[in-house]
This record gives sequence, structure tokens and C-alpha cells, in this order.
Amino acid sequence: MKLKKCKPCGIYTLRETCPNCGGPASSPHPPKFSPLDPYGKYRRMLKKQAGGDGNEKNCGKIPAKAEAG
Ligand SMILES: [Zn+2]
Repeated sequence: MKLKKCKPCGIYTLRETCPNCGGPASSPHPPKFSPLDPYGKYRRMLKKQAGGDGNEKNCGKIPAKAEAG
């Protein structure tokens, strides 16, 4: 069983549905890449190779999202 999370409630559950609101629970971990920007990773790689202006100091580490509630 995998731990899942109800986004609206912000609570974790082992069930497919949220015990609080009955809504669908999904994995709390974000996908490895954004479905809206599947090639963003490659674009950044190309940018790094081509540019090298040193503007993206913090790239590589994504800060943890603040939990609501
Ligand atoms: Zn819920």
C-alpha cells in the first residue's frame, strides 16, 4: 500500500479515497517532470550548455513546497 494524500484536505491516507471528504487521494509526491513542460529539463540543459552566464545559481535543488494547513 502506498501513502496517499488528499489535496483539498491536506491529510494523508492509505485509502484510494479521502476519509474526510470522500474525494480521490493521490500520491503526495510530485511527478519527476511537469506534464505541462515535459521538455523543460532538456531546455534547461541546453541553456546551461549554451549560456553559462551564471544566473541560475539555485538550479538543481528544488525547495520543498510549504504544506498548506
Ligand atoms: Zn479530503
